[in-house]
Amino acid sequence: MKKLYILSFLLAAWMFHGCATNPVTGNRDLMLLSKDQEIAMGKEADPQIVASMGLYEDEELQQFISRKGKEMAAISHRPELPYEFKIVDSKVVNAFAVPGGFIYFTRGIMAHFNNEAEFAGVLGHEIGHITARHSAKQYSKAQLASLGVGLGSVFSETFRQYSDVAGQGLQLLFLKFGRDAERQSDKLGVEYSSTIGYDSYEMAGFFETLDRLGPDEADAIPSFLSTHPDPAERTVSVRKYTDNWQKKLDLTDPDVGRNSYLRMIDGMVYGDDPKQGYVENGRFYHPELKFVYQIPDGWQLQNSPQQVLMAAPDGNAMMVLTLASGSSPRDAATQFFSNYQLEEESASETSVNGFPAFRVVASQADQQGNVLRILFYFIQDGENVYLMYGAAPAENFRAAEPVFSRSMTSFSRLSDPEYLNRKPDRIRIREVNNSDNLRSILLEYGMPDDRLEELAVLNGMNLTDQVAAGTLVKTLVNE
Ligand SMILES: [Zn+2]
Repeated sequence: MKKLYILSFLLAAWMFHGCATNPVTGNRDLMLLSKDQEIAMGKEADPQIVASMGLYEDEELQQFISRKGKEMAAISHRPELPYEFKIVDSKVVNAFAVPGGFIYFTRGIMAHFNNEAEFAGVLGHEIGHITARHSAKQYSKAQLASLGVGLGSVFSETFRQYSDVAGQGLQLLFLKFGRDAERQSDKLGVEYSSTIGYDSYEMAGFFETLDRLGPDEADAIPSFLSTHPDPAERTVSVRKYTDNWQKKLDLTDPDVGRNSYLRMIDGMVYGDDPKQGYVENGRFYHPELKFVYQIPDGWQLQNSPQQVLMAAPDGNAMMVLTLASGSSPRDAATQFFSNYQLEEESASETSVNGFPAFRVVASQADQQGNVLRILFYFIQDGENVYLMYGAAPAENFRAAEPVFSRSMTSFSRLSDPEYLNRKPDRIRIREVNNSDNLRSILLEYGMPDDRLEELAVLNGMNLTDQVAAGTLVKTLVNE
């Protein structure tokens, strides 16, 4: 159904917009999307991205990225697009662009920049994806992105696709470009950031930071990293482009903006934010909503503001926790089932650790005849009705059901202050008093041994680097 829709969309687009001139290269490209379609696509994807990741609230930083973003967009090859620049609330280190001019930075990448020029280089790279129309060329993947990871799509696709969603999660939201496109964006990043006065040599330095990040920080969202050319090669080519552009623009004293940038991110949340929910010892804790439940052994979990997705290691079962709407568990179930074509097999009132609940087993067949069986628990806590459901192909349901059931019936009130009062780490900027190597400085500020390497990467330095008195460095606090 969905595929058919994409195909007919493609044919319609083909008929009306066979060719368009690429704003960057000036060549006539085979272009399937008009500018209006690009903008419409971005406007559709944006609320989904914001809903699934959340925005990171920081007025000063937001104003800074919007100001620089607009300044750069104005000198780009496509100044007429309705650009928007946002910081999403994710610890992952990444930046990405969707068609129409929507550009996102994670708080993780903002924490890892060490000056304005590094930010400007990445900003230019992302604007480059838009001006060179890389996103528009990948629009069929954007179509896929518009499926989202919400409930609707979970019930409209086959189970294999579900487990892909659970395994890769938000990756579906973001486009992957080819290496040639990435090289072109690096080149445009140098051009745009140099044009607004920044030193794009710093952009090359940031690739080294990216290269040093562990898989945890780097892998969860792919766009800025995975399809990009080898960092060493990128560094060399970005330096070469920089030489050319600085000469061409007669840029003798380009801006770096180290101290101004670091002052701006002082106090920024770093790493996981426990208030969004966290996993510890096989349990998922949500201190704001005050609940906890057990995760099945070995399962993968992906937490977003909309839902918690969990997937079995063999990909044969998945669970979701989300909020349902309704005044009671039974009412929520009725509302939910009226929206989806599900065959109800059994339903009963029950309770889960003192919370009123409604348990349903249902099944659903897709158009290929694959049958899924699904266990639902609607659980009421005050005004909130939670929905936990576990789905498996019919032939696996007998084995999966007790696993689902154990996890769902472990849902209970979180009252232990030790888990309720967890705070996130925050960046604290300090001015070094006495010249020393980075290791000694970090130890002097009480940074734990097992986080020194991580802090060196965060500072874009090596632990053995000598740091002069008066230099600003990033440390972490938890208070
Ligand atoms: Zn890129």
